[in-house]
Amino acid sequence: MNYQAKLFIVIFLASLFIGGCTQKDKSVEVGLLIHAFDRERWGNDRDFFIESVQELGGTVKVKDAQNNADKQLAQAKELLANGVDVLVVVPVDQFAAAEIVNEAHACNVKVISYDRLIKNCKLDFYVSTDNVEIGALQANYLTTIKPTGNYALIGGALSDNNSQLLYLGQRNVLQPLVEKGDINIIYNEFTTAWDEEEGYEHAKKLLSSGEKVDAIIAGNDELAMGVIRALQEEGVENVLVAGMDADLRNLKEIVAGNQICTVYKPIDKLASTAADLAVKLGRGEAIENTYQTVSNGARLVPTVFQTGMIVNRENLKLTVISEGYQKEEEVFK
Ligand code: BGC
Repeated sequence: MNYQAKLFIVIFLASLFIGGCTQKDKSVEVGLLIHAFDRERWGNDRDFFIESVQELGGTVKVKDAQNNADKQLAQAKELLANGVDVLVVVPVDQFAAAEIVNEAHACNVKVISYDRLIKNCKLDFYVSTDNVEIGALQANYLTTIKPTGNYALIGGALSDNNSQLLYLGQRNVLQPLVEKGDINIIYNEFTTAWDEEEGYEHAKKLLSSGEKVDAIIAGNDELAMGVIRALQEEGVENVLVAGMDADLRNLKEIVAGNQICTVYKPIDKLASTAADLAVKLGRGEAIENTYQTVSNGARLVPTVFQTGMIVNRENLKLTVISEGYQKEEEVFK
């Protein structure tokens, strides 16, 4: 082999590995970084996502950060070093994950924020449900049933932008009623991990004040489960409890009359929208800029929102069950 041929091979090999990023010639490979598989829904998100990407001819590498932001960054770097074409991220921490976006961009890889928004970076896309709208749906539902009384809010994890958005939506509905004197907000706390145990602890603290409580809006169904346990333990009845996610256990509580409503988010549509975008971005296809935008503090991020809906005892067969998200025999078992 002559000198020029050797030089060509060396330059070619070097160009495949530049600064921790690898470029390979292959079909689209999507990196799916999930904060944790700690709630019922995330396994469904993953499965729907993989199925959709595979239908489009791509492959997916999934990483579970177990709620550790440093671990998630390390996983992103590993995927980039292995030549992934695009990243889809459910961030552990809305701010820390900006570093993932910066790392990806340094490798010319685009990032979609999935369900939870990554703040303060040049994020490429955001696919979620409108959490302000979901918060408003919860509060509207409860205030229609109980237009006066004492309300408590037990919100999601502070590290998750969705918690603040939900709160905004709830407050938009509740505040005019507070100002009219119809409603008092007697408890208002966020949590650290959207966790059942935290829901329980907060509800215990709320109930220990001795004040009568009429309605509790929990950030998600896990928190709502903890709330229901605390209410039962304290023997407190007739409190409206709202949650979110349409988890199986909570649908059973709705049937039993212990939870008044939850919110169903169409996970299959969320996942397939993200998959479609990811494959296009991974292939380097141009995407027409017709999207609505949401500010993440650094840019107006092109966004796709799916619509959430209230699920109650009356409509659960027509919503989560007919959509195929939960099985009737399981809910009514
Ligand atoms: C999601 C919720 C979920 C929560 C805890 C939020 O970002 O929007 O659906 O219950 O995280 O995993």
